[in-house]
Amino acid sequence: MDNKFKSGFVAVIGRPNVGKSTLLNRFVGEKVAIVSNKPQTTRNKIQGIITGDDYQIIFIDTPGIHTPKTRLAENMVKTAESAARGVDVILFMIEPKVGVKADIELAEKLLKAKTPVFLVINKTDTVPKPDLLKVIAAYKDYNFAEIVPMSALKGENADNLMETVLKYLQSGPRYFPDDSYTDKPEKFIIAELIREKTLFLLQDEIPHGIAVEIMSMKERKGRPLMDIEATIYCEKESHKGIIIGKNGGVLKQIGTKARHDIAKLLDCEINLQLWVKVKENWRDSDFYIRNFGLKQEI
Ligand code: GDP
Ligand code: MG
Repeated sequence: MDNKFKSGFVAVIGRPNVGKSTLLNRFVGEKVAIVSNKPQTTRNKIQGIITGDDYQIIFIDTPGIHTPKTRLAENMVKTAESAARGVDVILFMIEPKVGVKADIELAEKLLKAKTPVFLVINKTDTVPKPDLLKVIAAYKDYNFAEIVPMSALKGENADNLMETVLKYLQSGPRYFPDDSYTDKPEKFIIAELIREKTLFLLQDEIPHGIAVEIMSMKERKGRPLMDIEATIYCEKESHKGIIIGKNGGVLKQIGTKARHDIAKLLDCEINLQLWVKVKENWRDSDFYIRNFGLKQEI
């Protein structure tokens, strides 16, 4: 892994209409990887991905944010809790107003987590400077990692926000290799998480001879549980034995570690089934390109 490359997961949280989607669209631009606008209630999903030369930020949409006003209060708690678990940075967005009860409650919930929380005061174009300063003053004693005033609509301070987020991210893999796969980013990231565990556990024994394909992902109805089936491909029969390990021990470890990370990402329970298959010379075939979208690495 390239140590200079940074990656991580970021959640944008705030009351309806504060400007979350506007910010994401500004950041992600036309290549926005919005998976679906359908409200969903049981798990996190990937909402957008920005890839730079040396970084990749994956924006997570947390459940509860699209909730109608009447149910907002009860869902805020859940949102706050789930958001805090799987991400590296939380962007808590508000409008430049003081004393909004829902904002204060949500801020207090979010700040309980260990994850750094930025206060993003959006729509600065709508208020005179002294009013903005009052908002900053009202929140300055909270434990926000950063306070960033901005206008998502006009773009004011957007670059600064992005640079500040990057400061909080660790070095990590480029989970998502190719812009043409924006309709299924979750599959790619999950495949990458499994591949990462495989490489980590096998060290140098089978360098680069591995690819992972997600065969199926199914959410159980009404339960925060996802069944995932994935195939690990290797190039030789002898490699297969190493990946599976004695009594299946290695494969079990790969599964346990991957399941843990996927559960964190999607914020739901994961039932992970892993298969190992030999596919000789898969790197030479267009099967690799088609199925894994890893063209850039060849
Ligand atoms: P969300 O519900 O949090 O996703 O909010 P949206 O992104 O859908 O924005 C709600 C409304 O606020 C839209 O009409 C946006 O154009 C507007 N809006 C968002 N950001 C700004 C901003 O920085 N300044 C102004 N004046 N309006 C904004
Ligand atoms: Mg929105």
